[in-house]
Amino acid sequence: MRAWEMLHMIKRLAVVDANKCVGCQLCMLACTSRFGYAGLNKSAISVRSLGGVERGFTVIVCRSCRDPPCARVCPVEALTVKDGGGVTLNSSKCIGCGHCVNACDIGAVMWDSEWMKPVICVGCGYCASFCPHGVLKLEEAI
Ligand code: SF4
Ligand code: SF4
Repeated sequence: MRAWEMLHMIKRLAVVDANKCVGCQLCMLACTSRFGYAGLNKSAISVRSLGGVERGFTVIVCRSCRDPPCARVCPVEALTVKDGGGVTLNSSKCIGCGHCVNACDIGAVMWDSEWMKPVICVGCGYCASFCPHGVLKLEEAI
């Protein structure tokens, strides 16, 4: 691979092993704090219980689709498809209709109920560095 190709490799967040998740939500707290907020409401990653400690947890992350349904359904083009997949949000365009949330098959478009806008993963990998069990990693998008 040439140097310029390595510099421009697209990264995306991946769940390496959801079975290792203990539901501590450190990844969610890290994501929210990454953007200068506290709590969980503005996290772009979601950890949900599958119903009891024995059943474990599911970790939902944006998979950086190349033809993302969230962007397709946005009526005001507030979501722009990035080179290599995933989207960026122009929150000043967003009218808070929530269509993007409903359009994502895996439920990876989170919702900020304070601002009434979607929370979109930027693929920074900050959350992965806070997971004590190696559940998450930033990988190259193929
Ligand atoms: S909530 Fe905002 S980003 Fe999502 S579809 Fe509606 S206008 Fe577009
Ligand atoms: S990669 Fe960054 S933006 Fe995406 S969920 Fe993790 S901390 Fe949040």
